[in-house]
Amino acid sequence: MSTRTEPIRAVKGTRDLLPPETWRWQKVEDEARSVFHAYNFRELRTPIIERTELFARSVGADTDIVTKEMYTFEDRDHESLTLRPEATASVVRASIEHGLFNEGGAHKLYYMGPMFRRERPQKGRYRQFYQIGAEVLGSDHPAIDAEVLEMLHLFLERVGIKSFTLLINSVGNSKCRPEYVKVLRRALESVKSTMCPDCQRRAETNPLRVLDCKVEADQPIIARLPSILDHLCPECRQHFDRVLAELKQRGIPYEITPRLVRGLDYYTRTTFEITSGALGAQNALLGGGRYDGLSEKIGGPPAPGIGFSIGEDRLVLAVEEAERSKEASKPESKDAALTVYVAWLGDAALGPASTLVRELRRQGLSVEIDYEPTRLKKSMGIASKLGARFAIIIGDGELARGRYQVKDMSTGGQEEVEPAEITRHIESRLRSLNYFAEESRKPL
Ligand code: AMP
Repeated sequence: MSTRTEPIRAVKGTRDLLPPETWRWQKVEDEARSVFHAYNFRELRTPIIERTELFARSVGADTDIVTKEMYTFEDRDHESLTLRPEATASVVRASIEHGLFNEGGAHKLYYMGPMFRRERPQKGRYRQFYQIGAEVLGSDHPAIDAEVLEMLHLFLERVGIKSFTLLINSVGNSKCRPEYVKVLRRALESVKSTMCPDCQRRAETNPLRVLDCKVEADQPIIARLPSILDHLCPECRQHFDRVLAELKQRGIPYEITPRLVRGLDYYTRTTFEITSGALGAQNALLGGGRYDGLSEKIGGPPAPGIGFSIGEDRLVLAVEEAERSKEASKPESKDAALTVYVAWLGDAALGPASTLVRELRRQGLSVEIDYEPTRLKKSMGIASKLGARFAIIIGDGELARGRYQVKDMSTGGQEEVEPAEITRHIESRLRSLNYFAEESRKPL
């Protein structure tokens, strides 16, 4: 009896992103790049591994992320390293390390890539997930907060997400928040014994975290706790009011949500989340806020900052959902499809076919050829299976006439075209079909 080796599978909570779905990921990334560019953000790429200390000091030693969810390991030289659970800390670390703060003015940076948290996997929640984020370092002007939210608004529109809600709050600063935490701690004294075990612990270690507890039975208790918005210092109140006024002026709707404190300790003043009904239980599409003081916490100069992180996995789900609900819309994956399949018949045609393929590819068209001799009928079957928009057929007759057959796969119509004219021919056909039109690129 032969023993079969068990196939090795991907690690729990991680997944392979396969074509054609990866096309959608590229689309949202391209759109992010284009919108970020319009707002003068530039890309920063930081390492995926960082010293564990970076996250303990920034995200916060008592947070769920740091206490329960990080992938931390000891390197061979006994240094403790961690797969990044988020990227803001890395962006600030890199900005300190490379002296960006010393240059003055606001620095606008964006990133995209995988993050790692050991959470319980479910739809929209993974252990390796992807974030697209942006940070503005060096300014605490309320208009910057509003500008960042305006940019997000535009981005979500561009990727076709229509229904979303901006939840916004202020969590105060290092002056007024500790006062509020004292008030909260006092209020929790009398009710904590009736709350979930996590809240009982949080009431001691990090009372703010009680506010984002998701346990159903705790919600009425949480609703009666004092609100941070009643305990902001005059400066924070003024900042928050100015952010809201800026949002109004830009026509951006929001919902003030006093319980929104988010799961990371570094936030100050403005915090926000955008939720989308299309997502079900894991409905937070993105989150962010201000983190004045984070730079100092990790050894940098005083430098305010604000940023956000979009959960790309959830964004892609929401984009798919939005497309599904858009009636009569053709799947956008057409754009990803192959443009040309070249079929050759007879040995003499292979050389000219390869030359044509190289030329068309140099012109930027997506082209495929099979180097095995194949019968015409089978070739057309392959072209249609690959979703090619056009098939080009080159046989002895075509070689003799110096004109190749260009077949429109959607209509079946066929024309003879000179090799040098083929790109122009195809592009004009595509343009007349509005093939290159970008559905989502609509003006505000
Ligand atoms: P955070 O970094 O916790 O502020 O999260 C920002 C966004 O990242 C969330 O709104 C989610 O969209 C996404 N996100 C966070 N954790 C996960 C996860 N485990 N799986 C998928 N997306 C996540």
